[in-house]
Amino acid sequence: MPIYEFSCSSCGQKISVYQQGFTAIAHSCPHCGSDKLERIFSSFAVRKTDRQVYEEIRSDRQFERALKQNDPKAIAQWVERTGRGDKVPDECEETIGRLAKGEWPKKGSQPSGSE
Ligand SMILES: [Zn+2]
Repeated sequence: MPIYEFSCSSCGQKISVYQQGFTAIAHSCPHCGSDKLERIFSSFAVRKTDRQVYEEIRSDRQFERALKQNDPKAIAQWVERTGRGDKVPDECEETIGRLAKGEWPKKGSQPSGSE
């Protein structure tokens, strides 16, 4: 289900809207009632856990190549390329940051090099 994010230009709150079918997605701000909502465009609009992000990355074919190098830094570069410079949520940033430093996101999540 697509999730759209809006930013309220009155109070600055971020609002996530779950779109149902083709229903209109314009809403008023639940925090202050303002209808001045600005759509935030982001490929990372859907909140994901580290694990989900990691699983998604692992299922990508381009990523497979980076994986063959068994190098977290190569993976981090791939993530940044794929993200096209979009602002990523903090939890993803942490994961990518770890990869960029040559670490795996979590203990035990390191893929086995053999197939
Ligand atoms: Zn508001």
